[in-house]
Amino acid sequence: MSDSDVTIVAVDGPAGSGKSSVSKEVARRLGYGYLDTGAVYRSLAWHALDRSVDTSDATAVLEAMGDFDGSISLDPDDYWVRVGDTDVTEAIRETRVTEAVSGVARVPVVRHTVNARFRALVADSGRPGVVVEGRDITTVVAPDAPVRILLTAAPEVRAARRSAEVTGQDAAAVADSLRRRDASDSTVVDFMSAAEGVEVVDSTHLDFDETVAAVLAVAEKMQEVRDAR
Ligand code: C5P
Repeated sequence: MSDSDVTIVAVDGPAGSGKSSVSKEVARRLGYGYLDTGAVYRSLAWHALDRSVDTSDATAVLEAMGDFDGSISLDPDDYWVRVGDTDVTEAIRETRVTEAVSGVARVPVVRHTVNARFRALVADSGRPGVVVEGRDITTVVAPDAPVRILLTAAPEVRAARRSAEVTGQDAAAVADSLRRRDASDSTVVDFMSAAEGVEVVDSTHLDFDETVAAVLAVAEKMQEVRDAR
């Protein structure tokens, strides 16, 4: 990704840290594109489920990827995710997809393939920069990005935020599902601790506007440091 002229603001973090909504707003404020990499993994999981594939079976997942035709918008003001002609923007947030996505994201070839796709999407974005958010953006997808941030929050705060977003499931079930997904995802990438050169923004005691301001401040500072070199 470092080969492209597009500036990358890399934001990693666990679910419920405010990563998606904050990254989208940061993109708006900077006039950048916004790439939700988790949504790409979710659309792959949606596609696998649509094909009735057992997402814990890596070989079956890979087979299902063969005819995957997904697309995603990088416009923070017109966000959509599609598989073929089907708009899956809402469907990929369903519990059945959330429960299946880690299985898909665990397959190394899948990760390798989507990472190449992310690089192409950023390079072809037509924007001066893109805020790319996920789990391994600061470490694997764009380790050379001028701005690399880990957005965290205390587990109970993350569970409460997720619970407010998800309807039809009680708070304990949401917290439990979050814990299981974090545990499963952390076996693939470490998104709980910051890699060298990555700045931590802890949103535990910050509201949305304060978190956006904190991320923008860190982005500006890191960019200045990079420019001064
Ligand atoms: O960010 P979100 O919670 O929508 O991500 C959905 C899932 O996609 C995560 O639980 C994880 O399994 C996977 N993911 C990943 N690497 C990324 C982004 C998401 O493995 N960069």
